[in-house]
Amino acid sequence: MTDCIFCKIVAGEIPSKKAYEDEDILVFHDINAQAPVHLLAIPKQHVASLAEATPEHNAVMGKLLQVGARVAIEQGCTDGFRTLINTGRVGRQEVYHLHVHFVGGPDVLPPML
Ligand code: 5GP
Ligand code: ZN
Repeated sequence: MTDCIFCKIVAGEIPSKKAYEDEDILVFHDINAQAPVHLLAIPKQHVASLAEATPEHNAVMGKLLQVGARVAIEQGCTDGFRTLINTGRVGRQEVYHLHVHFVGGPDVLPPML
């Protein structure tokens, strides 16, 4: 996707602070962190949102969660974190390249919906 910010981050056309990368996924720091640790885990292959995920994405979705959690812990979320996927208009998704937020740090997060 030529017009997608996160595809440009994958391609190195937009800089990002990377925390983990392999052939399937990238984990990088959110530019507008909502907590001491705020990571985004994305598949390298463009998928617009969780609503577009198909059975072919099952392996990479599992990897986003498992590796993302490990990286979040490495980055300082040693006592827990919040994992969030915003989907579509109602979910207030801003970037239409599927991403999993990992948010946390030393302090207990505020409650959410
Ligand atoms: P969502 O689509 O789940 O609402 O959130 C998109 C997230 O991507 C936001 O938290 C926003 O700060 C982050 N974001 C948007 N553009 C960039 C960017 O160019 N670089 C980085 N690192 N994060 C971004
Ligand atoms: Zn994309």
